[in-house]
Order: sequence, then C-alpha cells, then structure tokens
Amino acid sequence: MQKKLLDGFEKTFQMRGLRITQQRLEIFKALAGSSDHPTAEKIYAQLRSTMPTISLDTVYRNLHTLQNHGLINRVTTGQSQARFEANLTPHHHLICKICQKITDISWQEFDKLAPPQDFNQWGDIKEKQVTLSGICRDCLKDKKSS
Ligand SMILES: [Zn+2]
Ligand SMILES: [Zn+2]
Repeated sequence: MQKKLLDGFEKTFQMRGLRITQQRLEIFKALAGSSDHPTAEKIYAQLRSTMPTISLDTVYRNLHTLQNHGLINRVTTGQSQARFEANLTPHHHLICKICQKITDISWQEFDKLAPPQDFNQWGDIKEKQVTLSGICRDCLKDKKSS
C-alpha cells in the first residue's frame, strides 16, 4: 500500500518532468498526508525528526518548485505566512481568524453560479474560488469559557 502510494508520486513527478530527490518526495508526501494546509515551517518541523539534514530553506525551495509544476497549491489566506496543500480538486476554504485553521469545503450551489454578466468585461474567468473567514467552533468555545 505504502509502496504503491510512493510509486504514484514518482510517476506524477516524472510526468511533470520533475527530478525526484528524497527530500522533495518527503516534502510532497508530508503535504499529501495532511489536511490542515501546513506552513513551510510546520512541514520542516515534521520532517526534521526523520531527516535531520533538511533545512527550512530546502523546504521553501521545494514547495516553490512543486507549486510551479502544478503539484501543490498555495492557499490564498490574506495572512503573511503561506499555506500549502496537495489537494488539487477545486474546493473552497473556511479560515478561522483566531487559530488560523483552514478547513476545506465544497459548495456546489456556489460552483453552479455564473459570475455576473459585467464580469465578462474584465476578461475570461477560469476559476471561481472563495475563502470565508470567521471564528471556528473551538475558538468560540474558548471565548465563552474565558
Ligand atoms: Zn479557531
Ligand atoms: Zn484546501
């Protein structure tokens, strides 16, 4: 199972003309195995225990390369720290303003909505993605108890 998953990654890399390095593969795996849209720092902290020679700079550079090759997405959050994900299926995001947690959502009603007519004057719209922000349930709970 694990081996098969790895083969899949290697094939994806090859298809995109991307050289496979151990570190690059591990960074991609870490991202593919998480659903919390980690920062580069978080991936670095996670990998450091098994790959003591990895540097934060290496993580940044590889994330950039993976993004350029369309293997991962950088999530637009409006926050200064970049967040990444390997989930390339079109979806939307909920972001908590307090704990910065990002949750994936699907919103079929929104997806079906055509952009307003006058948007056509701007150009050709290819993607429609929304980010909703607010306070998550966990943070609401904390607020009440303090
Ligand atoms: Zn929260
Ligand atoms: Zn996402």
